[in-house]
Amino acid sequence: MSSEIITGEEGRKIALKRAEELKDSIADYLEYRQNVPTGFSEWDAIQERQEQIKKYFGASEEDWTDWKWQLRNRIHDADTLSSFLNLSAQEKEEIELTGSKYRWAVVPYYLSLIDPDNPKDPVRLQCIPTSMEYYDQCGVMDPMAEEYTSPAPAITRRYPDRLIINVTNQCAMYCRHCQRRRDIGETDHQTPKDQIEAALEYISKNEEIRDVLLTGGDAFMLSDDTLDWVLTELDNIPHVEIKRLGSRTPVTLPYRITDELCQVLSRHLPLYVNTHFNNPLEISPASRDACIALARAGVGLGNQAVLLKGVNNHPLLMRKLNHELLKIMVRPYYIFHAKGVQGTTHFRTRVEEGIEIMEKLRGYTSGLAIPTYIVNAPQGYGKTPMLPEYLLSMGADKLVIRTWEKRVLEYENDEDI
Ligand SMILES: *Cc1c(COP(=O)(O)O)cnc(C)c1O
Repeated sequence: MSSEIITGEEGRKIALKRAEELKDSIADYLEYRQNVPTGFSEWDAIQERQEQIKKYFGASEEDWTDWKWQLRNRIHDADTLSSFLNLSAQEKEEIELTGSKYRWAVVPYYLSLIDPDNPKDPVRLQCIPTSMEYYDQCGVMDPMAEEYTSPAPAITRRYPDRLIINVTNQCAMYCRHCQRRRDIGETDHQTPKDQIEAALEYISKNEEIRDVLLTGGDAFMLSDDTLDWVLTELDNIPHVEIKRLGSRTPVTLPYRITDELCQVLSRHLPLYVNTHFNNPLEISPASRDACIALARAGVGLGNQAVLLKGVNNHPLLMRKLNHELLKIMVRPYYIFHAKGVQGTTHFRTRVEEGIEIMEKLRGYTSGLAIPTYIVNAPQGYGKTPMLPEYLLSMGADKLVIRTWEKRVLEYENDEDI
């Protein structure tokens, strides 16, 4: 800044010009956001599809909003699916073929989000198998070497002060991009109680563990009573400061978030839930109600998206997703780069795409709407953040930085100034 005094009027003129410039810098987004379908903009069509599905199953409204009814009536064969989606004979065959290799199942609610006529629907891509999965020869089953990071039953430990307990392998819907599909297998099983007890025993003996994540599978596939028990046991370990739960049910089965569940959770604060929205179409009035109920119960909510080709590999779509998340009290936490898990490599993008997404977030939108983009290091060496280059060089007492608008500036790096 020059030391010249700028008069009020002159200053205002400069600010107005700058405001115009700022507005222009998001003109593309203002245009784009009008055309992005969300679970809210599509809600009328979604509700019509829900009526059709209810009719097919002879279900009442009460059945529909009962998460156990939803789980009992998961769709997992191409014939039933073809009552709800327009499938060609070849698509049906591909679904059956891939289904013989990798399990799939989708709850009626999540199915109702799909446009039945669009084979590229981003919700459909996440839950309905394709032959690309079947013929994928590139990937490996366990790219993070999780088999070598389990010091006690049901535990995955890769960091100094926190670990995971895998409490179940069950999910409401089996994601086609699942990075833990080797655990999904053919049948649902909860981790036996004696294994969870052994995991709790390990945690109680290792006082550096201050953060415990319950995941799997989906932690909200456990009953309220089982969750209450595990969380109570963790509360009784003095060095456990916070608990976290991993669940995709706010996205795939929002009716799981009942008043009873919220009451249980509210007894175990501080508690955080990380969920997994990937596309604005998944943010509907139903998922909003679930997230707001969790927030009211005192639960901190975060989102872990996965960068997926055809689902969300677009900078402006990601910006819209993060805006929609903040509206339902969910803080964008991570964007994961898709790992090379066998059967999922058709979803993989290049890392450059992820970095471009980050480039188009910082500065353009609220810091709250900016997650961290993560590449998982090979061999289980941990989450590694990927960022655009903002620090261009670092001299003895000067840095060269570049801003979100790509202005290159010198920055004094001197303690005395
Ligand atoms: C991702 C992960 C965590 C949690 O990592 P944060 O960066 O703290 O969210 C903990 N343990 C394991 C094994 C993980 O993979």
